[in-house]
Amino acid sequence: MLDGLKNSLGDAIKKIVKSSGIDEELIKELSKDVQRALLQSDVNVRLVLEITKRLEERALDETPPPGLSRKDHIVKILYDELSKLLGNESDFDFKPDKQNKIILLGIQGSGKTTVASKLAKFLTRQGHKVGVIGADTYRPGALVQLRTMCEKSNVEVYGEENNKDSPSIVKNGLKHFEGEPLDVILIDTAGRHKEEQDLLDEMDRINKVTDPDLALLVIDGTIGQQCFSQAEAFHKTIPVGGVIITKLDSSAKGGGALAASAATGAQIMYIGTGERIDDLEKFSPTRFVGRLLGMGDIQAILDLAKRLENEGDDVRMKRISSGKMNMDDFFYQLEEVTKVGSLKGLLDSMPGFSGMVKNDQLDQMEDRVSKWRYIIQSMTKDEKADPDLINSSRIKRIARGSGWPEGEVKELLKNYKNSKSMMKASKGRQMQGTLRKMGL
Ligand code: GDP
Repeated sequence: MLDGLKNSLGDAIKKIVKSSGIDEELIKELSKDVQRALLQSDVNVRLVLEITKRLEERALDETPPPGLSRKDHIVKILYDELSKLLGNESDFDFKPDKQNKIILLGIQGSGKTTVASKLAKFLTRQGHKVGVIGADTYRPGALVQLRTMCEKSNVEVYGEENNKDSPSIVKNGLKHFEGEPLDVILIDTAGRHKEEQDLLDEMDRINKVTDPDLALLVIDGTIGQQCFSQAEAFHKTIPVGGVIITKLDSSAKGGGALAASAATGAQIMYIGTGERIDDLEKFSPTRFVGRLLGMGDIQAILDLAKRLENEGDDVRMKRISSGKMNMDDFFYQLEEVTKVGSLKGLLDSMPGFSGMVKNDQLDQMEDRVSKWRYIIQSMTKDEKADPDLINSSRIKRIARGSGWPEGEVKELLKNYKNSKSMMKASKGRQMQGTLRKMGL
């Protein structure tokens, strides 16, 4: 599946791993390789540029945690960013003691009927009791196809050969299954009409009759980034709760299809990977990207990074709370509190603090942190470990190196010292201290 993308990303990573040293030129080359690979897989140009810009910035700016090589760190950044491009993981949230109704939407040929049969088997295997309603009255043979495929997994299919009115079939089907001990009812709908508007109207009527727990949109992955407009069009008629992308086995545009669907904000829940009934997989962006990049290689890097992250945090927190904070620790804390939403979310959830932090104050803080990032980057390793070394001639040099006036360097040092002494006085209450020192 997605062999082209896999090979080209694999080649790009090999270049990094085999290089004798990492420099800006190599990172730019990696970025270009990734761009080429994603564009060939029909990922939208804007998304490609966004992701490779972040890749370059992070690869150049971020210092790998101690113990993780620069090369591994860059591979991990690529893994993180590609996973982000594909959205979050999500699964069915069936409510107990009721028949959960799922409508399958999608245009003709997208693989809807196949997906209905595949899902029926998949969910049955998980121990659910499933019933199916075949309401695709437009495509000849859809009902027979559904019955044949579901027969093997002993799933009952309700359909009416001589009725052309889908909403009434759905209504009758729901009545038929009423009282049966089913957890899930899957409803296959038509994917085509003479006029597009007729199709959307019918979806609307079926939606009203069904009152579904979930509308699942089935999209053919071979259409690549066009998935975006297709998903949007359906979403306007029925709120789409999840997406299934099919035919990823036979599409060179699979990357584009996945990225475009995720960009609509819809969750990709499952992917179709072949014509056989078992060719359906639960979709996990991280696992998927892991496979693309060669899971065996990436897993070791991820495990190591996770271990180091935890160890690093423990050591750091001990150092901070014992009053031995260095400049890196100080900056780490600042970055933690300015992480998007974290400070505002935290304060909003505390009684009496709700709404206290205004967005412009947050912006000011972020400005400050980004200024200070440059200043700290202009310090030597020794200066960061022991900021007391920083005398007036060093302040001059740091100011010159960072491009900010001496006054700003002094301001940073003052804040660092205040924070450190407060940390000594009130162990573990670094958050409040940092806030107060930031003028909040
Ligand atoms: P519908 O019109 O949306 O109900 O589409 P169908 O379920 O009849 O599927 C249309 C065609 O796509 C059929 O020939 C299926 O066998 C094929 N198909 C469906 N899903 C997949 C898939 O994941 N991979 C491949 N290669 N073919 C698929």
